[in-house]
Amino acid sequence: MRIVKSRGSEIFDIELEKDLLAKNRSLAKENRERLDRANILAIDIMGSIGSGKTSLIKAILKRIGMSNSVAVIAGDLTTTIDAERIEAEGARVIQVNTGKECHLDANLIHKALNRMELDGVKLLFIENVGNLICPGEFPLGAHKRLVITSVTEGPHTLMKHPYIFKEADVIVLNKIDLAKAMKVNPSQLERDAKKINPHVPFVKTNALSGMGISKIINALRLKT
Ligand code: MG
Ligand code: ZN
Repeated sequence: MRIVKSRGSEIFDIELEKDLLAKNRSLAKENRERLDRANILAIDIMGSIGSGKTSLIKAILKRIGMSNSVAVIAGDLTTTIDAERIEAEGARVIQVNTGKECHLDANLIHKALNRMELDGVKLLFIENVGNLICPGEFPLGAHKRLVITSVTEGPHTLMKHPYIFKEADVIVLNKIDLAKAMKVNPSQLERDAKKINPHVPFVKTNALSGMGISKIINALRLKT
């Protein structure tokens, strides 16, 4: 089989523009300093469309029962569907619509933080745009990154997207109740995860039933 391999520099990809990434990193650092000053723990939630990011945030909120000290920044291209679902749990939510952009960046988070009432907030979830590729390239200033995938994405998700999983602090395999129907072996996905990122917790969940949620709370060291 013939394989064409790109050598980074020859790809036409504005997202890999060095200046842009450097600018993003410095803004991410500012965001982090600001969050630290305010004593807010921020978690970047990344995963494909439909993997269960919003459901996971809702399930965690339900479990920790401190929604008055939780804020959520919901990233999405155009809709407010997720923000409304999360607002129903009582957390304060700010919607960031990226238009055509397929990821959040540190500048958008900077703006969102400016717009938010952060008094009394201890925990901030950032729901990234549904995508397993470029969100990994754009640190936002969050303290931890959680990457969620679901068995409905098929058996190869981890091996096909090693970079984002390598940067994760927690890896979540969601919709575990559907594994059989999808003919996906969760143990194989766990082995893939260990190959890519051996030292981070791998948690199997059913975000809708609440299964596995307490393990995530422990893995993220969230106080309950
Ligand atoms: Mg969502
Ligand atoms: Zn993108």
